[in-house]
Amino acid sequence: MKKDTIAAISTALGHSAISIVRMSGDAVFDIIDKIYKGKDLSKVNSHTINYGKIYDQGKLIDEVLVSVFRSPKTFTKEDIIEINCHGGAYAAKKILELLLTNGARLAEKGEFTERAYLNGRIDLTQAESLMDVIEARSEKALHLAAEGLDGKVYRLIQGLREKLLDTVANIEVNIDYPEYDDVEMLTNEILLPKMTALKQEIDHIVKQAYVGRVIKDGIKTVIIGRPNVGKSSVLNALLKEDKAIVTDIQGTTRDIVEGQINIGGIILNLIDTAGIRDSDDLIEKIGIDKAKALIDEAELVLYVLNNNETLSFEDEKLLELTAHKKRIVIINKIDLESKIGRQFESSVQISALKGININSLEEKIESMFLQGGLEKAGETYLSNARHIAKMRQVQQSLKDAIDAAHQMYPVDMIEIDLKSAWETLGEIIGQSKNTDLLDELFSKFCLGK
Ligand code: GDP
Repeated sequence: MKKDTIAAISTALGHSAISIVRMSGDAVFDIIDKIYKGKDLSKVNSHTINYGKIYDQGKLIDEVLVSVFRSPKTFTKEDIIEINCHGGAYAAKKILELLLTNGARLAEKGEFTERAYLNGRIDLTQAESLMDVIEARSEKALHLAAEGLDGKVYRLIQGLREKLLDTVANIEVNIDYPEYDDVEMLTNEILLPKMTALKQEIDHIVKQAYVGRVIKDGIKTVIIGRPNVGKSSVLNALLKEDKAIVTDIQGTTRDIVEGQINIGGIILNLIDTAGIRDSDDLIEKIGIDKAKALIDEAELVLYVLNNNETLSFEDEKLLELTAHKKRIVIINKIDLESKIGRQFESSVQISALKGININSLEEKIESMFLQGGLEKAGETYLSNARHIAKMRQVQQSLKDAIDAAHQMYPVDMIEIDLKSAWETLGEIIGQSKNTDLLDELFSKFCLGK
């Protein structure tokens, strides 16, 4: 266990009312005592906030509030002191510098959280969720991350591990004490239903993980359609602000249809559509392969048509190309006379210009990807790529175990796969403390967290 005392500025530097300088470790009281005047912090109660002043060799630096958290009921389980000083560029930096010259070491990225994990305050999934809370780009993503931080993923994994352990323990008893009559004799017929039920549970978790991914990472989206049908206007309507440049000169729409938009809590990551939008004849100009590549990359295709025009050959071609994708056909310009003469599955009729029916587009996206997703009670969604990859490994191990049972392999052979599934689940919650993995994970954190 690391014992040195670490310090960092936990808030973003810049113009702000308050900044927080945080310190954790055995020497926090000795260090603060050298620069702080006020009550003797080593004697105050835990979880109190104390008014005082920070001095540098007798020179006043700032008026502060110091929060005192005594081990072990703290984030890192160590003694923690948090100095609330004034914001701006200088106060926090100066105070941090004083802590460092008086015996603290500058914390590495994520080191407070790493200590929380290493000292058993949180598991690895909670540590990762903490980062997700900080990085959340929508309210839904925040909610998902907050549940992870609250231990929801941990409990899911532990539940699965217990079931596996139960079966493995049964096998072990059978192997070690075959003479015991009162121990249930584990045959493949008894093992199979248990393993199958578990596999089904894991299949479901893996299948549902896409909901978590959608919420956390957003949906790769491409907006396509012929020039002048209103793609930029649709985007503007979605953004509800004028970020894309709209022009009525055909083919001159500037390439702004990139970046992210938040649609009812779901992030759409827009893929560049420059080639498509600048071309009169998409397929002729950029070629089928390029168009296909863009479309393949997308998880969602927003296909915009002009209600006031009949479909062209190019439209037919693009509709065909995108037919296998999750696609919403946006029939734009419904304020104008309808000449389109076709109906589409999964389409919405809007007027980007007049702001008509934009909500129904939002709702369609939500129902297409989440199907009421997060609201489903009791469901735990994995959203972290590492967790999902590990869960797929678990899925494979269980499949191997079930196959082995079908082929009437001896139980001790089956046990190898079950144990491996159990160990992989352990890696998700960080039971096996692989230092390389930890270094990599925590290095992605912010300083001071
Ligand atoms: P893009 O080339 O597909 O990106 O099309 P734009 O968004 O630049 O729009 C082309 C023209 O169609 C502009 O003059 C827009 O004002 C107009 N437009 C866009 N949406 C609508 C709509 O819903 N109704 C009407 N009447 N015009 C629209």
